[in-house]
Amino acid sequence: MSVLVFIEADNGVVKKSSLEAVAYGSKVGAVTVVAMGSIEASELAKVGNYGAEKVLHCSDDRLNDGVISATAKLIAEAVGQSGAETVVMSRSSLVDAVAARVAIKIGASVVTNVQDLPDTSNGFVVKRGVFTGKAFAFVSVPDGKKVITVTKNVVQLEPTSSEAAIEEISVAFDDADFGVKRIGVHKQEGDILLPEADLVVSAGRGMKGPENWQMIEDLATTLGAATACSKPVSDMDWRPHHEHVGQTGIKVAPQLYIAVGISGAIQHLAGVNSSKVIVAINKDPEAPFFKAADYGVVGDAFEVVPKLIEAIKK
Ligand code: FAD
Repeated sequence: MSVLVFIEADNGVVKKSSLEAVAYGSKVGAVTVVAMGSIEASELAKVGNYGAEKVLHCSDDRLNDGVISATAKLIAEAVGQSGAETVVMSRSSLVDAVAARVAIKIGASVVTNVQDLPDTSNGFVVKRGVFTGKAFAFVSVPDGKKVITVTKNVVQLEPTSSEAAIEEISVAFDDADFGVKRIGVHKQEGDILLPEADLVVSAGRGMKGPENWQMIEDLATTLGAATACSKPVSDMDWRPHHEHVGQTGIKVAPQLYIAVGISGAIQHLAGVNSSKVIVAINKDPEAPFFKAADYGVVGDAFEVVPKLIEAIKK
């Protein structure tokens, strides 16, 4: 099967989640990658390490602005040029917006939020998360073209030393393709971007008040992690709203999520259940978070966290 994987870059560096999509695609078939905007050839060639044979690169720098219609047009064009049957993309705000548009343009079935490799023993069956990750649905995708969006941490990255060949792809864009575009990105100095973070230290109402957040920040700094919080914490202005994770906040998918003094309500778990490893620290042994966590520490955060920082520093 021929697979086209759409990748995204941040500051010219291919996102880890996109490399995971390439690795996912290479387990499904022969991969061609489509990339856009300002990315160095040496950076693009690295996708070969994860199984891509070829990269179709549209270097038009108007595509740096995350333009939805133009991106969908580029991916559809790349499907035509590569002859791909299946399009794979890692979920992001841009991918969530373009997936259905691409499917319509190429006449494909679309399945979003896929959490595992397809079972091809009898057709093409994928597992997707539903009810904000509380359940799974197994979906049989009809024969023909398919568009699949995958979550982070769905495959393990095992790089090789192969490199991919790069070709420029040109697309006949018109002005309407650039009608709706991102006009700017505001990043706070020094912050690790929460949705992209590999390590997250998050805290909840168990911290008692904003004055106690220093130890959470110390733990995050010691680990090189981003900080996050539960909804009530940001509602009470203990922490900024952009740190709120959960069903109504940011969805994270780090390698490690440490939850301190958070009960583990279903709405909180909805934003964190794609994390690879979850550690919960809570003084209540019955806290629901312990059911979702890989490791749990039953104890007072005010005793456990300083000891944890000390141990990591050693
Ligand atoms: P609490 O439920 O008060 O839990 C505090 C925890 O800290 C307890 O488990 C307690 O045992 C522990 N604790 C206390 N003291 C200590 C200590 N010294 N050491 C260690 N542990 C301690 N919530 C979200 O987080 N994100 C969302 O996106 C979200 N969306 C929602 C959407 C809807 C429609 C609704 C109805 C609710 C939503 N909520 C969301 C709220 C959610 O239901 C919970 O109320 C919330 O997650 C609880 O936050 P918490 O765990 O910080 O506080």
